[in-house]
Amino acid sequence: MKAVTQLVRDFMQLLFPPVCAVCRVRLNTCRQESFCIRCRDNIGYLMQPACRVCGMELVGDDNREYLCGECLRTPPAFSLARSLVRYEPAVQQLVQRLKYAGDTSVASGISTIIRGRSLVEFADCDWIIPVPLHVERHRTRGLNQATLLAGLFFPEKRQLVRSDWLIRVRNTTPQTRLGGPARRKNLRSAFDVRPVHQLAGAMVCLVDDVYTTGTTVGECAKVLVLHGARGVKVLTLARVAVPQRGRIG
Ligand SMILES: [Zn+2]
Ligand SMILES: [Zn+2]
Repeated sequence: MKAVTQLVRDFMQLLFPPVCAVCRVRLNTCRQESFCIRCRDNIGYLMQPACRVCGMELVGDDNREYLCGECLRTPPAFSLARSLVRYEPAVQQLVQRLKYAGDTSVASGISTIIRGRSLVEFADCDWIIPVPLHVERHRTRGLNQATLLAGLFFPEKRQLVRSDWLIRVRNTTPQTRLGGPARRKNLRSAFDVRPVHQLAGAMVCLVDDVYTTGTTVGECAKVLVLHGARGVKVLTLARVAVPQRGRIG
């Protein structure tokens, strides 16, 4: 039976030779990989030390429990945020293809990135909620990349994913076109929660593709807590990384 499976796999590889999930260069068929060596080396995993709340990479002695300046000044509505990789060109290509081209063939590459990291901090989450798109944008794009990511992050907990509880009530300007204060203003009252009693007292894992300033996930967390969630932990694939000096808080 195993020989037949192998035969089918070899045949499929002949028909569809594996390519790098980022640059599409042909890969060595003998090895089960998602990236060519060049692209693999260009994927930067986030390192310690990092802010214990928002996960921002910091410069300092890594045995300390740091807080970044932003979390000290304005503690966010979520209890922690973690990202796996830096939002640099190779990862940007993966995310953009997933987001704007609906190219789900990048999913195996993203799964490879996820397999390398521990998600133990999210073990106590009762529900997994993707950051929603407005219904009109969802219709144009055909998929919500955050929902797809939620399934890739937690393949064994797909039954906990709830993509219809948190809703985007206003079709806002894409955040990437705005600066800090404009981002906050743009998202005010942009989200709401459907009346679901299972949210009361629950710990939520909120999933998104990229953490930039934390404004979007911060607004979502506020609304979820307002509707009874005990806490919100944020998980994103990538983070726009600007290492800062840490402070003890
Ligand atoms: Zn490549
Ligand atoms: Zn922070």
